[in-house]
Amino acid sequence: VPLNRFITSVLEECSPLSLISLAGGCPNPDTFPFLSTLMKRALQYSASPGIPELLTCIKRLQKRFHNPPNPQTDVCVTTGSQEGICKVFEMLVSPGDNVLLSAPTYGSTLNMLQPLGCNLINVSSDEHGMVPEALREVLSRWSPSEVHKPNSSAPKVLYTIPNGDNPTGVSMTEQRKREVYELARLYDMLIIEDDPYYFLQFDKPWAPSFLSMDVDGRVIRTDSFSKILSSGLRLGFITGPKPLLDRVLLHVEVSTIHTSSFTQLMVSQLLHSWGEQGFLQHIEGLIAFYRKQRDAMLGSADKWLKDVAEWHSPSAGMFLWIKLKGIRDTQQLIREKALEKEVLLVPGGEFMINSSEPCSFVRASFSVSSPEQMDEAFRRLSLLVKEAQC
Ligand code: PMP
Repeated sequence: VPLNRFITSVLEECSPLSLISLAGGCPNPDTFPFLSTLMKRALQYSASPGIPELLTCIKRLQKRFHNPPNPQTDVCVTTGSQEGICKVFEMLVSPGDNVLLSAPTYGSTLNMLQPLGCNLINVSSDEHGMVPEALREVLSRWSPSEVHKPNSSAPKVLYTIPNGDNPTGVSMTEQRKREVYELARLYDMLIIEDDPYYFLQFDKPWAPSFLSMDVDGRVIRTDSFSKILSSGLRLGFITGPKPLLDRVLLHVEVSTIHTSSFTQLMVSQLLHSWGEQGFLQHIEGLIAFYRKQRDAMLGSADKWLKDVAEWHSPSAGMFLWIKLKGIRDTQQLIREKALEKEVLLVPGGEFMINSSEPCSFVRASFSVSSPEQMDEAFRRLSLLVKEAQC
């Protein structure tokens, strides 16, 4: 056995605590500047709202992109944006409360709201997102003057995914956002702006966010590093009025205590080393990548699905929402037949308030498949639909 291997195996496998090794040639890890200055903090508990360096970066980002007009705006780091959304709902709604959203919507949001016992009210949407007239119509069940009465059942919360909606891929126009915000003011509702695809908007100029319009402090915005840095980091942040964020923080303090210090330090190091220019360059690279993927998927959809399906081109995010003609419910088609043809999509029912209601849509993601794979997948899907139509 070579000496090196012998020494390593002794040290790794069977060294008693009393063994003094003068053999190894490793540098002393206490001398690593990274380890001493960063790792000790990375492996230690930290403050619940987030480590200061990361909070500084996040506040800069929010100022640069949203410039929130409400002076009481604060931020808090979360373990992915999903933790933020979940905790916001848990702190805000009570059983029986009416919550407004546009279905289809993100399945996990539906799943987190269900055990909270709220009543979900659907507000119609189209290719530009939530329709303000539909919202006005829903709200006309209540009188704005009655919303503060103790037993009022008027909705307190409206949830929206304003860019590259999951699953529909649609983005809300500025005009619509302004109208929705005005209705929220009239009925004194909070808006939960779940915006993980904000930085994946393909066309400029970007419509202003709800946060950027929020003069009253009624918007709670959740952001995510999942789509722009890495999803396994589990890092996101909430931005909103301080009194509401303080309530969410109470929840964080007693549940997760804080988001991993290790992850937070890693990301704040990266963001500091990039600086604003580096961050913007990275985002431009992502946009170019996802736009190309989107275009490849649209090209294949045009080639294979024209006769059997309908869709709108998404201007953000990573999803194409496809209506299959002549298919009443895609659950059965996908669960039973798609695997035979070796193509997998998400049946639209997964995103509905009532998942057993028939739905003729499927969600296709253009994030990870190659253009060739997307093309072949749509060829197989077109065969599947044609067979099912017969
Ligand atoms: N909201 C929406 C609309 C999403 O699509 C996702 C991710 N699929 C999330 C929230 C959760 O993202 P995160 O990884 O930041 O928890």
